[in-house]
Amino acid sequence: MNFDRDFTAWPIGLHKVAEDVYAYVQGNGPYGNAGFSNAGFVVGPEYVVVIDTLGTNSMLDGFIKAIRSVTDLPVGLVIITHHHVDHVLGTHRFMPARVICHRHCRAHIAAGRDTMVQRWRSMRPLLAPDLDDIPVVVPDITFEQRISIHLGERELVVFHPGLAHTDGDAAVYLPQDRLLFTGDLFFNRVCPAAFQGSVTGWIAAVEGLLALDAEVIVPGHGPVADRAALAEMLRYLRLIQTGSEQAHARGLTPEQAAAEMELGAFRDWFDTEHRLLQDIERVYASLPTQPATSA
Ligand SMILES: [Zn+2]
Repeated sequence: MNFDRDFTAWPIGLHKVAEDVYAYVQGNGPYGNAGFSNAGFVVGPEYVVVIDTLGTNSMLDGFIKAIRSVTDLPVGLVIITHHHVDHVLGTHRFMPARVICHRHCRAHIAAGRDTMVQRWRSMRPLLAPDLDDIPVVVPDITFEQRISIHLGERELVVFHPGLAHTDGDAAVYLPQDRLLFTGDLFFNRVCPAAFQGSVTGWIAAVEGLLALDAEVIVPGHGPVADRAALAEMLRYLRLIQTGSEQAHARGLTPEQAAAEMELGAFRDWFDTEHRLLQDIERVYASLPTQPATSA
C-alpha cells in the first residue's frame, strides 16, 4: 500500500484494505477536518458489518453508494466507535441492523438523542442543510471490555482501551488481517481532540494499539495509515503531556503554554490551531490546582 506523505491532502473515497474489508475515507470540509470522519465495512458470507456511520445525509449517501459498489448483501451489524455526531448520525439508514458500542458510548447517545442533531446544526451552520430528518439511533448491544464478532472465518475483536478520546471508545481489530480500525483513538495528520477524554489515558491506549500486530490502520480522521503514523500521533500526545506538566509547574496559563510549545511539524497538522489549547487544558485539568513547588 502506498501511504501518501503529503500533509495537505490524501486519497479519499473507498479503499480496499484486505479481502472483503474496506475503509471509507473523507477529506476536509468547511471547518477543516472537524466533522469529516472515516468509516469502514466488512463483507461477510451473509451480511455486512459497518464500522461507524458518519455525520450528514450526503456523507451517508456517498458511503452507502460505496458499499453498494461492492456488495448487495444487507448491513446486519453496525459497530460504533464512540458517541461523537460525526461517527453516529447515519446509523438510522442501516436499520434494522443490530448496533454495538461500549456501554458509556450508548449512555452518551441515549442522553443526547433529542438534542445532538440540533446542537451540531448550531455549532456547524454550514452543515445544517445536510442534517434534516435524522432520527438518532440508540445502540442495542453494549460491552464493557471486549466483544468478538465471528463473520464467517473472520474474527472482529471490538475492544475498549480505557478513557482516551472519550470514556466510551472502541477499536476494531481483525487479527487474521493484521488490520485495525481505531475510530478517533487515531487522528492521522489531523490534530487529536482530547476535549472529552484524557491525554494520559490516550497515551496508554495508543501504546496498547501499537502493541497489537496491526500492519494497516484505519484512523477516525485522515488517510489510511501504518504503525509509524500512529506512533507519530503518540509522540504528539507525549509532547503535550510533558510540555503541559512543565508549563503548569512554571505557573504558565494554558494559553501561554500553547504559545510557547515547540510543536515542530505537528503545527502543520489540520486543526492544530483550534485543538492545541483544548488538549493542553485537558492535561491542566488532570493536574493539582496549585503548581508543584520544589521540596
Ligand atoms: Zn470523536
